[in-house]
Amino acid sequence: MLRLAGVTVRYGGTAALDGVDLTVAPGERVALLGASGAGKSTLLAVANGSVAPTAGAVRVLGGSPADRRVRARVGTVHQSLELVGRLRVVHNVNAGLLADWSAARAAWSLVRPQGLPEVLAALERVGLADRAFERTERLSGGQRQRVALARLLVQRPDLVLADEPASALDPVLADRALTLLGETAAARGGALVAALHDPALVRRHCDRVVGLAGGRVVLDRPVAGVSAAD
Ligand code: ADP
Ligand code: ADP
Repeated sequence: MLRLAGVTVRYGGTAALDGVDLTVAPGERVALLGASGAGKSTLLAVANGSVAPTAGAVRVLGGSPADRRVRARVGTVHQSLELVGRLRVVHNVNAGLLADWSAARAAWSLVRPQGLPEVLAALERVGLADRAFERTERLSGGQRQRVALARLLVQRPDLVLADEPASALDPVLADRALTLLGETAAARGGALVAALHDPALVRRHCDRVVGLAGGRVVLDRPVAGVSAAD
């Protein structure tokens, strides 16, 4: 699914990632843990091809993360969400049906009649069916987080990458969001890699924890083996 070998990412003098080796197999649900600045977002950005490593090699779904066909099979919930606020919710979700929605302009494309049922079904699953035709910027932070989740659901990716996907959600909705992310990955026999900070979500939804500190992997073990002391 995902293989990083000796991956280093430098921003000026700072090494956001420093010689990271990480392999994620099909079916795995990996929680990325670490303090702010540890490198979690950078690792996810390398995995989805939006950041190229300064050194080292990245393979995603058997190909290069820069390959357009590979990127179409990788679903990301960004920390910044990457929604277009002026557009209706349906248009932002519809972008998930496009092969490469990474350009914001993809969201401007009209919802085709054949795509609308799928878009509305995804909004139903995240509990936002009643907001479908509202301007996205009118929604709360937690609601917008669920719009980004709905876009990922319609994309049906093989590899799901999520950067604090439940940070603006209450415990019940957070649990639901992680369930949907796990199901999406599992539906295609894929994997989930999520930066999380809530131990309860990690225990309930992940099998493996990878801890980062200063851009290095400092912990990698099954969830069952993680204690509060870690
Ligand atoms: P985390 O997601 O764990 O909070 P990040 O991957 O965002 O960590 O950041 C890792 C380090 O890289 C931090 O020191 C951060 O300041 C730095 N960094 C991240 N992105 C950039 C960038 N675009 N330009 C400069 N420094 C960056
Ligand atoms: P406005 O004129 O302010 O854009 P409308 O009430 O005319 O508002 O439309 C609401 C939004 O919902 C529009 O952006 C429109 O593109 C979208 N919309 C409405 N019906 C459909 C549909 N069947 N398929 C796709 N998009 C739709």
